[in-house]
Amino acid sequence: MRSVAVLGAGIQGTCVALALRAAGWRVSLIDQAPAVMRRASLRNEGKIHLGFTYAKDSSLSTGRLMLRSALSFAPLIDRWIPDGLDWERIRARPFTYLLMRDSALEPEALYSYYERLELEYRALREPWQHYLDTRPDSLWSKAPLPPEVSRAAVAAAVETAEMPLDLVELRRQLARAVGESAVSCQFGRRVEAVRRRAHGFSVAGVEGGGESWRLAADAVVNCLWEGRLKIDAEMGMAPQQPWTYRLKYRVLGRLPRALADLPSLTLVLGSYGDIVPLSGGSYISWYPECRRGWSNDLEVPQSWHRACAGEVDPTEAREVSSRVYEALEPITPGIAATSTVAVDAGIVVAWGDTDIDHPDSGFHQRSAVGVAADDGYFSIDTGKLSCGPLFAAELAARI
Ligand SMILES: Cc1cc2nc3c(=O)[nH]c(=O)nc-3n(C[C@H](O)[C@H](O)[C@H](O)COP(=O)(O)OP(=O)(O)OC[C@H]3O[C@@H](n4cnc5c(N)ncnc54)[C@H](O)[C@@H]3O)c2cc1C
Repeated sequence: MRSVAVLGAGIQGTCVALALRAAGWRVSLIDQAPAVMRRASLRNEGKIHLGFTYAKDSSLSTGRLMLRSALSFAPLIDRWIPDGLDWERIRARPFTYLLMRDSALEPEALYSYYERLELEYRALREPWQHYLDTRPDSLWSKAPLPPEVSRAAVAAAVETAEMPLDLVELRRQLARAVGESAVSCQFGRRVEAVRRRAHGFSVAGVEGGGESWRLAADAVVNCLWEGRLKIDAEMGMAPQQPWTYRLKYRVLGRLPRALADLPSLTLVLGSYGDIVPLSGGSYISWYPECRRGWSNDLEVPQSWHRACAGEVDPTEAREVSSRVYEALEPITPGIAATSTVAVDAGIVVAWGDTDIDHPDSGFHQRSAVGVAADDGYFSIDTGKLSCGPLFAAELAARI
């Protein structure tokens, strides 16, 4: 049986491990964390994108990739796990998009983009596909503003079929599936180097206690997200375009009773934020306050890692959450009464080096992502949580 070392156990590495195990590989899944999905794949708003956010990519290539990813997200995961996942438990409330009065695109331009997405959806979907165990007839419709939202700030609202996932529940179900599979989990191990050998590869690193470890495999799949580019560069696959790492905080809080019926909200189009009501703590973000780190180096600053492991100093947590509530108060009055449950951060990795409010920002385009390969060494730029299963299936077909 051929062996593969999968580096990184976020959504990408977990899906690759399950897909390759199902295809008969002997799989080692390696991560510095003590379990699957402890970093970016846990600390985000969990939106399984249908493409609405990418209206600035008029080529529709990002929208099309998001649709393909979203429609295969659940069917692919269910193919690799004997009983599949309980999607009804994992899904959260559908998104309403709030078209802000100072949006970078006028409502008519957004409607016409959404209509193009709708046509693409009808053309793309195949009988085996579904969207998180639902089959929406249409993706969006104009809607009245939710009563909780201020008319002064918001020009119009659009109800969509797009949904976020409860990532704690997704992690729980995926962790169980990995535990019940024959994947060999090697957690608490930091990857430091990959080397080519006469036959296959050796992967080496250190454990939590400082002891070194080494493992041989016929193939390697690098799914290390913010740790990916460094190893790729050492393997002769240095990035050919500028990239940016952004450290992005999120607030989890219990919304006040007046906002109990809020749908999931995404504010467009510009550097705004999102609110996702969840029973364990709603996701609340406001981009200008939550984007608190920026790096164009090959490796992210060491100081970012604590927040990405869920450890934020209480003073900083209070500062971030009160600023986020303050920024959102004019849009969703009453949100300042939210009681904060936790504050943590994730890293966004993207091609481009200008921020989202720049007219030519590369961050509005996410289609130049996916699987790269060089003679038994593979590297996956996940791009978005939404794309993890699709890219794992593409990898399994190529390896
Ligand atoms: C705030 C925020 C909001 C977002 N919102 C969305 C959204 O709504 N929808 C969406 O589709 N996407 C969203 N994203 C993007 C999404 O989170 C990522 O694209 C996705 O989670 C990346 O998955 P991954 O498995 O590649 O990375 P990760 O989940 O970060 O997994 C990489 C793993 O590699 C491990 N690792 C890294 N370096 C090493 C090393 N040297 N040794 C050992 N282990 C290592 C880490 O511990 C980690 O477990 C968001 C991101 C952020 C930060």
